[in-house]
Amino acid sequence: MTQKIIRIGVDLDGVVVNKPPIVPKKLIEWLIRSHTNHEKKYRFPKTNLERWIRIQSHHYKLRPPLSKNLQAIKNLEKLKSFEVFFISSRYRFLANQTRQWFKNYFPQFDYKKVFINLENQQPHLFKEEMIRKLKIDYFLEDDQRTISYLRKRSNLCPIIKINRDKQITKKLFS
Ligand SMILES: [Mg+2]
Repeated sequence: MTQKIIRIGVDLDGVVVNKPPIVPKKLIEWLIRSHTNHEKKYRFPKTNLERWIRIQSHHYKLRPPLSKNLQAIKNLEKLKSFEVFFISSRYRFLANQTRQWFKNYFPQFDYKKVFINLENQQPHLFKEEMIRKLKIDYFLEDDQRTISYLRKRSNLCPIIKINRDKQITKKLFS
């Protein structure tokens, strides 16, 4: 009998990728979130300036890894019984920045298993779709609104909330 391989889905920002050091969280949220009244909507940056700011703020040097979490994922990857996929709702215009990040901090990872939001869908919908498509068994996420949404969906895997460095090790190995 062959052992089932457990498929772990991992969000990027806030789970293995740190926030940029100087930009205040409130400003990031303001840039990301929709200014309309719909709670779940994130706003796709429409102007070149906004996109430029976002691209700059996703430079790998401004986004160091959450090193303990990243290490936990690296350890998991080495075990034959786990397969790791990254699922991030980063929009298409951040594809290069994302590739650069992996090149610098996780070069041994097979980049084909990094899925970003190339069609610029609503982030929570993109994640749900990918979790289903990739048949993820556990998904690691930091954003509370995304977690709340995903946990309400039927027949979706357990969503594990991660909100600081060191958490993956604690939550998966204890
Ligand atoms: Mg996140």
